[in-house]
Amino acid sequence: MSVSLFRSFKVCRLLPRLQPFLSWKLKTMATSTPSYQPIVISGPSGSGKSTLLGLLFKEFPDCFAFSVSHTTRKPRSGEEDGKDYHFVEKEVFAEMIENGDFLEHAQFSANCYGTSKQSVKSIQSTGRICFLDVEINGVKSIKKTDLAARYVFVQPPNMEVLKERLVGRGTESDDSLKRRLDSAQEALDYANEDGAYDHIIVNDDLDEAYSRLKLVVADDIKKMKEGK
Ligand code: ADP
Ligand code: 5GP
Repeated sequence: MSVSLFRSFKVCRLLPRLQPFLSWKLKTMATSTPSYQPIVISGPSGSGKSTLLGLLFKEFPDCFAFSVSHTTRKPRSGEEDGKDYHFVEKEVFAEMIENGDFLEHAQFSANCYGTSKQSVKSIQSTGRICFLDVEINGVKSIKKTDLAARYVFVQPPNMEVLKERLVGRGTESDDSLKRRLDSAQEALDYANEDGAYDHIIVNDDLDEAYSRLKLVVADDIKKMKEGK
């Protein structure tokens, strides 16, 4: 019997005996990376979600990761494909819906946005806390899934300030500004419903709003640092 044939023969005979060990090993590998509760952040466009998350990710780079959504919106100047969004054509987005790739998806201001199942899964496998930034329909859809997330709403001080900030960001056309402001009221009304969100952060003074966000995630950071 050749050496390699002999080795294969030995492995085949050993496999059944190794099976309990292998299945235990696979189980411990699957559970050795703790999976933390994802956090869904929502709020009118321009309320400051990206600004607040930017500060949090900068201060705690190892704790959090952002679920990068797919969108049919065109990139803004400075936005990076694969970092801010996966920018895709409408046909690709439709195909992904067809294939059941999305955890949730919605239309917002004439564009499609969606969270792929893969995006959340890949973050959870790294043991970081996954942040999802979605609009109101995304929030409602995610609540129907088994994601067991926590929900945070970022509220602008008022509609005038929201408009000023959106205009100041310099990213919207007149049409898209109007659409975004129109949908803001719906988001604010939903946030006022009992139990819609676990936390509401009013983003007036940025430092204060950021401190509130840090309080919301303080326990998560503690657990993660303790490896729980
Ligand atoms: P969102 O991600 O919710 O659409 P952004 O984070 O892009 O909102 O914020 C919209 C604009 O408002 C940005 O130009 C940002 O710099 C500005 N901004 C955010 N928070 C504040 C704040 N507390 N005070 C003043 N400007 C702010
Ligand atoms: P923007 O075009 O300003 O980046 O995003 C517009 C809106 O789309 C924001 O309210 C944001 O929260 C939401 N959004 C971004 N990604 C997703 C997503 O994957 N799903 C849903 N439902 N909304 C998203």
